[in-house]
Amino acid sequence: MKKITVVGSLNMDLVVNVEKMPKVGQTVIGSNFKEVPGGKGANQAVAMARLNGQVNMIGKVGQDGFGKELLNSLKKDKVNTEYVKTEKNIASGVALITVNEDADNSIVVAPGANYELRKDDIDDCMDAIKESDIVVAQLEVPIDTVRYTLEKSKELNKYTILNPAPAVKLGDEIIKNVDLLTPNETELEILSGVEIKKDEDILNAAKTLMNKGVKELIVTLGSKGCLYINKDMHKMYKSYKVNAVDTTAAGDSFTGAVAVSLANDENIDKAIDFASKVGALSVTKEGAQSSLPYLEDVMKFEG
Ligand code: ATP
Repeated sequence: MKKITVVGSLNMDLVVNVEKMPKVGQTVIGSNFKEVPGGKGANQAVAMARLNGQVNMIGKVGQDGFGKELLNSLKKDKVNTEYVKTEKNIASGVALITVNEDADNSIVVAPGANYELRKDDIDDCMDAIKESDIVVAQLEVPIDTVRYTLEKSKELNKYTILNPAPAVKLGDEIIKNVDLLTPNETELEILSGVEIKKDEDILNAAKTLMNKGVKELIVTLGSKGCLYINKDMHKMYKSYKVNAVDTTAAGDSFTGAVAVSLANDENIDKAIDFASKVGALSVTKEGAQSSLPYLEDVMKFEG
């Protein structure tokens, strides 16, 4: 099986349930507080490892309790952590997550050590990229580091996947080095500059983004499924029906599953079907890494 390197964030997620999201200036009483390892980079790495992917993680944590817990949780899932640096005098990343009764979430991230992941750290970890076939990044580490990672990875002829979250406008120097982009609907809107008011607008927005030079695009649409588009065709995929309790990390599990399928030399059709099962299973459980399914769960899932 081909190896995958994930370059990205590690955060400790501090999760609390509420009935309704607080408005500005309002205090609400929550329940069920939990500390769950997260961060888009770490979530995607763990998602891949639980699906039997062989994964290196490149990232940074602080020299604190959360940092240790974050590393331990990756190790427990057999992600290779030798390329995760521990930095003194800086806090590990944390995410403050509120989940309401409709299973929607709102998230504030304090990036801490994640924002200290620099180009020279990527240089120090080039062995990880060299031994991999697929490199996966997100946007919770500095954009300059993401740009550099993608550039170096393409120089080495690697297949690159960018999950553009949280969304910012991407310059040509990033887009030209991405093979597969996996935004959700909101991210698509920001990246394409096309306002999405009705379902038909999604394809227009995706086509606008393709015109900017994107090679392949999967737009994830939550319970509506996803849209795949390349320069020759597009196809809608329905989601699998499940009882959703918390959508945190659905997108991470989906991108991770696509990467593992491609690493197993599956075609994109099979990769998306597999990822749709993984995404659906992830929303049936609470939390980020706590909700990521194992390969055997996916194999048993009838849909
Ligand atoms: P998040 O930011 O919450 O991690 P996201 O917005 O990046 O998630 P989504 O589009 O919500 O990602 O979900 C990714 C994929 O997971 C979807 O394309 C779909 O296949 C699956 N999925 C998500 N929500 C559901 C749901 N309620 N029921 C079934 N499948 C779902």
